[in-house]
Amino acid sequence: MAGEWTIRELAREAGVSRKSVWAWISTRGWERPTSGPWILDAEQGRLVLERFEQTAPLRTSREPVACSVEDCERARFGLQDVCKMHYQRRARTGRTERSSGGDWQTAKTHCPAGHPYTAENTYMFPSDAGTRRRCRTCRIAQSSAPKKQTADG
Ligand SMILES: [Zn+2]
Ligand SMILES: [Zn+2]
Repeated sequence: MAGEWTIRELAREAGVSRKSVWAWISTRGWERPTSGPWILDAEQGRLVLERFEQTAPLRTSREPVACSVEDCERARFGLQDVCKMHYQRRARTGRTERSSGGDWQTAKTHCPAGHPYTAENTYMFPSDAGTRRRCRTCRIAQSSAPKKQTADG
């Protein structure tokens, strides 16, 4: 009959599982048939759809969800909680904040190759102005490595 819903129809319409619909309507105290499928009237169906309208987009990601970084309105990147730009920044620097000057550099404890930034293993160029540490181990490895420039041209 028009205006009646089965749980299966509601679940499909709302984009959620039948179990979710069932779980929610069981808490409503609505009259339930003693046998046969549970048929909801138009008003009950509307309430169910209204209820799941709010959660469905998050769960099914039919709509892009915004990056979790404050003031960032880009869509999230894949299954990450942040957008692609912030994802890459976090992968690179370990944080989503914009790197201001050499802050994140000095906060790091290891060089990109994993050598510890200990006092003995660190040096700075005068031009670095105290903002950037350089790894001595890497420096030595680079200078002693054979030059890669061969037939290039
Ligand atoms: Zn972002
Ligand atoms: Zn290093």
